[in-house]
This record gives sequence, structure tokens and C-alpha cells, in this order.
Amino acid sequence: MTAFWLEHAVVDGRVRDAVVVTHDDGVITAVDESPQPRPGDAVLRGLVLPGIANTHSHAFHRALRGRTHDGGGDFWTWREQMYRVAVHLDPDRYHALARALFAELLLAGYSAVGEFHYVHRDPTTAMADALVDAAREAGIRLTLLDTLYRHGGRETDGRPLGPAPEQRGFVLTTDTWLARHARVAATGTARRGAAVHSLRAVDPDDVARIVAATGDEPLHAHVSEQPGENAQVRAAFGASPVAVFGEAGALGPRFTAVHATHLDDADIAALAGSSVAICPTTERDLGDGIGPARRLADAGARIVIGSDQHAIVDPFDELRALEGHERLRSLSRGVFSPTELLAAATVDGYASIGWTGGIRPGAVCDLVAVDVRSPRTAGARLDQTWLAASAADVTDVVVGGRRVVEGGAHPLGDVGALLAQAIGEVDG
Ligand SMILES: [Zn+2]
Repeated sequence: MTAFWLEHAVVDGRVRDAVVVTHDDGVITAVDESPQPRPGDAVLRGLVLPGIANTHSHAFHRALRGRTHDGGGDFWTWREQMYRVAVHLDPDRYHALARALFAELLLAGYSAVGEFHYVHRDPTTAMADALVDAAREAGIRLTLLDTLYRHGGRETDGRPLGPAPEQRGFVLTTDTWLARHARVAATGTARRGAAVHSLRAVDPDDVARIVAATGDEPLHAHVSEQPGENAQVRAAFGASPVAVFGEAGALGPRFTAVHATHLDDADIAALAGSSVAICPTTERDLGDGIGPARRLADAGARIVIGSDQHAIVDPFDELRALEGHERLRSLSRGVFSPTELLAAATVDGYASIGWTGGIRPGAVCDLVAVDVRSPRTAGARLDQTWLAASAADVTDVVVGGRRVVEGGAHPLGDVGALLAQAIGEVDG
């Protein structure tokens, strides 16, 4: 048993002072108060938040940051640029890039990540293993969302397209995916989850088989990111993507719909009880549109966040964007309360990728300490600090009871240099 003494902490959605969190082997066993740290307590100053989950990540997209802003285009032209990076990935290069990206996520305050992994290259788990190793070495909690990707896309009439040459490394048959999935590592702070890329890339039968074969693992899918996707799916199957996922038995507590940007009223109602991963900084970067996050929450969906293509890695920016996009649309403020926004990043995000979060007994002992006296956060109320802070204000991150980030530094050292090196290796 060891303990952390927290100067201020958000417990059950409320700010409390002088909190003691006791854990046993990385799981919280008690949450108490003590006016001062006791002998042996590890001390975390500032405001300590529960662990923050980045529920939707494609680690290799980090190599595109700051390199795609000229020449106009849209989601579909950006995707061509992304494919050109993917063809340069092998297990060693992906390990180096993911390890650096995961360190960047930790420095920004993400203690857990759902890695939506489809760059398989071959039927082995070598690429997945590289990601699991990268997460362990960087110190981040990982849910490896092992992803089925069968088709290169669809014609406008819905017929599946074969993979383009640069997509071939993504594609597995459903039988191959099912045979290898159980070999994806799941130990300690790494967990296995399932995903289907989207109904552009798989058929409803594939979804149903994966639902049946993966027990209670988290199940994620891209859903209705683009109007063109909806049109293709409707042409192929006569229904919206959400309706097709529902018919295949995918919706419910283990399911996370990623993006869910272009929905109709029936889609919104059907997602009650599922999670929806809004990725606001990516959705605005790609010109996807603004998803109906408030209406989804009102219907009973759990809203969570992801940084997806990592154009920006800053959980506080995702929360401000989630709220800010709704303000721009609704011409009103406070669409989500600060407490709701923090839950999206923390407890609900953890649930979406299969972990128990929060500062409470039974949760994993993941903590994120934020400087409350920085030029950005000074003067902010403690119960709104996460709407003032940036990634640069994260001082310490604890994962599974182990302090990984300390004083704003990661044990791997110069993470910028690691990123530059790794991106240079995959520069297409
Ligand atoms: Zn994605």
C-alpha cells in the first residue's frame, strides 16, 4: 500500500482539499483527507484530476502535423497524404513513432489511450506488439483497439472497392482477424479491444461476427464522419451507419461511435447507452462538421474525447472545442457544464476504453496534476481550471500508481527530439 497526498483534487465531480489516495498495486483502495502529507506520502501539488483518456488515437498520424495545411482539399485529400506515411511504417519505425507520441500524450495530461490500430502489414501481430511495447516503455495506459479493415472504400452505389496499393497493409480477412486477435498482448496496463474501421471498410456480417467473438471487450468504429460515408452506406445497405451497426448488434455499453458527426434523429436516439468519441480538434482540422454532442448526451449517450490524428495534443483544448463548437452553433454558453466536460475526459473516457477511472476506490490509480498558478491558470476557480489550462500546465502524471511525468518532464528525455527522429524515418 502506498499513498499520494493531493493538494486539491476533483473527487466525484467536486473539488476537495488535502486528499489522500491510497492504492494497492495500482488500484485505488481508499480516498481520505489529511490536512498535511503523512510520512511516506508522495505529494502532488496544484489541482489533481482523475486520469484523462484519449479514446481515439492513430499514432502514425502524428507524422502529418504541420505538413498538410497548404493546397486546400478536404477529408478525402488529407486521407491520401495519410496513406503515404502509412506505407513507410514497419514494426521498428512504428515502435519509435508511437513511443514518442505516447510520451507526448503523457506530457499533455493523457494517462490512457485507445489506439485504433489498422496498419497490420501482415497477418501477424508484429505491428500491434510494437504499439504495446511502445506504450509500456512510454508509461501510458493502453487499450489496443485491434481493427478490422477489409475494403478500400465504396463506390457511390455502395459496392466495395478493393484496396489501393497503399491500403494493402491495412487489410485482413475477417477469418484472419478473428484467428489472430486473441494473440494481441493484454497485460498490466495494456488491454485488448476490438474495432471495425467503418462501414466503408467492412460489411454488416463482419460486424456481427466480431461482436459475437469478442465478449465484453470495448468495441469501437468510425461512424458517419462524412456525408459521403452516409451516402455510400445507405446505397450499400439501405440504412444509416448507426442503423446498420444497431442491426448487427454492436450498439450498447461496450460500443463507442467515433465522430458520429452526421446523424439523423433516429441515429441519435439509437446511440443511447453507447459512447460517442467526439474529436473536436481533428474534426475541425479535416472540415468534417460539428457533431450533435449535446443532443447525444441528452439522449443518453456518453460523450468522450479523442485527439484522433494528433493535429493538436491537448485534452483541455479538446474540451474547450467540444463546448465551443456547441456555443457557435447554439449562440448560447454553458452548453456542457464544467463537470460534464471533465467527466467526458476522465471517468466516461476510461469506461469507453474498458477501464474504471475517477478518484474513487476500485478505480485504477491514474492522476493528472495541473499547475494552478501558471500564466494561464492563475486566478481561475479550481472548479473551472480545466477550461483555462493547457497541456503545458500539466506537471505530473501518475499511471497505475507510478509517477511517470514529474515536474513536466518525461523519463525518455527530449520528446521533441524523439518525435523529430521518428517522423524523419517515415517521411514520405
Ligand atoms: Zn480515426
